Amino acid sequence: MESQAQDSVRRLIVLSGIRPTGPLHLGNHLGAVRDWVDLTNRGEYDCYFFLANLHMLTTRSAALHTEGKKSGVDPKELYDDQVGLVLDLMAAGIDPNKALIYAQSTIPELTELMWLLATFTPVSRLEGMHHFKEKKGKLEEEGVGANAALLTYPVLMAADILGVQADIIPVGEDQNAHVEYARDMARAFNREYGDLFPVPDVWQTKALRVPSIDCSGKMGKSHPEGSVFYTDSEKVIRQKFSRAVKATANPPRTQSDWRNDPGDPATCNVFSFFDLVGSSEDKSWAEAGCRGATISCGECKARVAVLVNEIMAPIRERRLSLETDIGRAQAVEILHEGGKKARGRVQEIVTRAKEMVGIPAF
Ligand code: AMP
Repeated sequence: MESQAQDSVRRLIVLSGIRPTGPLHLGNHLGAVRDWVDLTNRGEYDCYFFLANLHMLTTRSAALHTEGKKSGVDPKELYDDQVGLVLDLMAAGIDPNKALIYAQSTIPELTELMWLLATFTPVSRLEGMHHFKEKKGKLEEEGVGANAALLTYPVLMAADILGVQADIIPVGEDQNAHVEYARDMARAFNREYGDLFPVPDVWQTKALRVPSIDCSGKMGKSHPEGSVFYTDSEKVIRQKFSRAVKATANPPRTQSDWRNDPGDPATCNVFSFFDLVGSSEDKSWAEAGCRGATISCGECKARVAVLVNEIMAPIRERRLSLETDIGRAQAVEILHEGGKKARGRVQEIVTRAKEMVGIPAF
């Protein structure tokens, strides 16, 4: 690990964030949150997990900048999503006694650090980011312009990381370019003013992309019918898979005469789930059954639904039992306590950064 400024006695710091845009789903779980639980439970690291509620505003309030359109941000709904996200994280297995859970908005010093880092950042670097170009394109398709905060999204993310001197960043592949940029920011600051920031490393178990069940791209909150949420019952999971007509082999196998219509699993969205949630035996069963027409698409989908449910059932049970007034009040308290601790650390580091640059608080 390249970490010029690392204090040799301190424990390594793990940091990751997630936008409170709605309930967590299987894609979030397999692509990110499962790793967070694992890293926390190893007991080797100081773990910081935050609600990226400032990042969330970059797209949720995008319409603010288009004349004649309302922002689409409902503050009450947003508040509930943040509380719900804490409960989701706890249901997934993150113990707030072992990891800090907090909200970005609790730490104003992060936006101060963001400003310092922005002064090191060529605009062309931000304009060239794949994430920015993709999101800007989507907004423009909807007739909405991208706001300036969307452009500076990676700068705030670098501040989130460097602000706690994080070492290990468990994120999905989609975030690699942003972490690379944060690494460059750490190096640039250290070169200019002296060692302060460790150069963080991405942590990924394996590149993993959970598709939407209904073939509408990546599983995500904006496609509820193609996503398996933490609170989805066994029945709902089964229905979501069984209704995914387009998701099977292309061309689709005949439903009524499937015994005479072998399929090609390589062209089947449902089959790809076996790599994510099944054993090698499950996968071989589906592959041979599809090619040899010994199983129907319905049987295959039902098997995937069972495997998905096995992963989701314990999370769902915990999530439902947390969904009480006590649970929600506890979530707010967790954000408050986690925020106090994380802010203390960020304040120290940002104060040092400002002094090194020569702009102390006076
Ligand atoms: P988001 O809900 O888009 O803020 O996602 C937060 C993180 O969850 C991403 O950075 C990814 O690491 C992970 N993630 C979200 N959707 C998926 C998916 N369909 N497949 C794999 N990982 C995902």
